[in-house]
This record gives sequence, structure tokens and C-alpha cells, in this order.
Amino acid sequence: MILYKKMHECFLYKKLKNKTVVCQNCPHYCVLKNGQKGICAVRQNINGKLYCLNYGKLSAIEIDPIEKKPLFHFFPGTKSLSIATAGCNFSCYSCQNWILSQGPKIFGKVEGEKILPKEIIKIAKENNTPSISYTYTEPTIFSDYAFDIMKLAKKSGLKNIWISNGFWSKELFELISSYLDAANIDLKSFSGKFYKKYCGGNLEPVLKTIKRLKKKKIWTEITTLIIPGFNDSKKELKEIANFIRREIGSETPWHISRFSGEISWKFKDVPDTPIETLEKAYKIGKKAGLKYVYVGNVPGSELEHTFCPRCGFKAIERIGYSIIRRDKEGKCPACGENLNLILN
Ligand code: SF4
Repeated sequence: MILYKKMHECFLYKKLKNKTVVCQNCPHYCVLKNGQKGICAVRQNINGKLYCLNYGKLSAIEIDPIEKKPLFHFFPGTKSLSIATAGCNFSCYSCQNWILSQGPKIFGKVEGEKILPKEIIKIAKENNTPSISYTYTEPTIFSDYAFDIMKLAKKSGLKNIWISNGFWSKELFELISSYLDAANIDLKSFSGKFYKKYCGGNLEPVLKTIKRLKKKKIWTEITTLIIPGFNDSKKELKEIANFIRREIGSETPWHISRFSGEISWKFKDVPDTPIETLEKAYKIGKKAGLKYVYVGNVPGSELEHTFCPRCGFKAIERIGYSIIRRDKEGKCPACGENLNLILN
């Protein structure tokens, strides 16, 4: 392994008076005096310059099926080198990976194995993964590291995928979007109050990111973790489904994911999502005109297959993260309908 030794000065920030800086990486736009860290706890003003404390400090690296991200319509059936550093710009009560995402805030330090961007490319090449996914925690807060890897990946013919909360600044979108091939964005709720109280963020910037991705023609899938009693009303699910259809199109896959209280950060007393609620959400998505709605975290569910939007045939069969059967040209084997797959 090649070790990364230097502190990395952040790409997106502005210097203000008296050694104060404003971070422009995410919509929190933290204004930081000398010595202060941002809300994410992985960016720090040191003597009037903003540094990424997590640059190159890898806390997770796996080779995953792309379906696990989840991405069902982009490079289906391939593996993706998946990486993360510690930290997050949100603090979701429902987080299922909170030791990593909230670690820097809780423990006050950033742990990780130091690995240079070019080493990541080498690992992807050695393992023949056609893509790199920036995932598990929140790529927004390791955007500098991700950006350096993304540039090298593009040169090497690898695709870049962000699995993200979508809480990006305009500046971040402009920095990374030319190198981004696909994204799965969490649309956690359609309520600003929910985003504020249970995520430590805001809804509007997330909606803006989704619209910007559409405008830039970057393949986007949406995930909603359904939490009983918090974001599972008919009204809210309808609003989410209608937003997806209206703003990014009926061909956008919507992943409705089952929540588990036991592994969450602060929702331990909330029961797991009932299957009936997931089925209700599925029907709402379909009724809103979405062609591809999927239920996640329910192994063996019938609703993780792709049903042809024209003839209703079970066109792509999945079990968990594996594809059992699909037409190699990405069409419905029964009627020939295009299933909106981006194949490698
Ligand atoms: S990335 Fe966001 S949360 Fe972190 S310092 Fe910058 S503006 Fe603040």
C-alpha cells in the first residue's frame, strides 16, 4: 500500500476575515473560526485554511454487487469497488451505519487506512470491477478524495457512482458532475420538518440535487427508507412518487427500503416496517406512473423483480442482489419493451 502523509487542503472553501473560512462543500455552508471543525467533524480550519481530516483515510472497502447499492438499471449484474471514509454531513436517527458515519462527531477523531487515489484505481483494475462506488457513509464529506479518484477512474475507463443523501452544494455539483456516471439519492421524506429534526439537514437542497442530476443526464435512482409512523403516510409517499415522476421521469427506479429499528442509531424503539406498508408504497409508486418500483431489505420478495411496464411479464428476476434471469439486450423477453437498462 502507498501511504498518504500530507494534510489535504479542501477544494471548496472561501477565506473570510481574521482567519475565518466558509466551507462550500455542502448546504450547511459552515463558517469556521481558526481551529473549528464543521458540522461533519471531518473538515477543520487550521490557521485560516480548511483541511479535510478524512482525505485518503479509508474506513471501508468492499467489492459489492451493484444491486446492493442499490442500482438496478445501471450496469446490472456487475460488481462495483465500494469505498468510504468516516463522517457524514447528516445525523440521521435512522442511520444503519452510524458508527462509521457519526464516528468523528462521537469520538472526536477520524480513523482509517491511508490509501492514495491511484491505489484505489489499481485495486479496481486488479478485481475487474467496471465501476467505483462512493458509498456506505456519505461521499459529500469525502468529496475531495472522491474527486481525485474520479478523475483517475474516468481516464482508466471506470464509471463513478455516488450513493448519497444528495445534500450537495451547487459548487460541489459543479466540481464533480462531469466525472459522475450514476447516482442513487436517498429521498428520506417529503417533509422539511423531518429532514431538520431527524436528519440534521434540509429537504430543498436534496430536491435541487436530484433535478440537477436529471438536467445533466446522469443516471439516477432514488431510495426511500420507510420508517413506520415517520414517513409512511399515504400523502407523503404520494408526494415522493409524484415528485420523482414529474421531475426526473417515469423510468426512474424507486427503491422502497425496509427499516430495521434494532440496527438504527436513535430509532431503536421504532418497529420494523410492516410488509403491508411496503406493498402500499409500491402500489402508490405504480399508480403515480413510475415504471420501476422495487422493495428492498425483504429477501425473496416478489417486488424485487422487474415487471415489464408494457405487458407486466416478470422480465428480470432477482434474488437479493443476484440476477437470476434477464434478456442480454435489456428488453422484455415477452414483448420486446425497452427496460431502461444501461448495460456495460
Ligand atoms: S462539508 Fe458541510 S458540514 Fe462539513 S464543514 Fe463543509 S459545510 Fe460544514
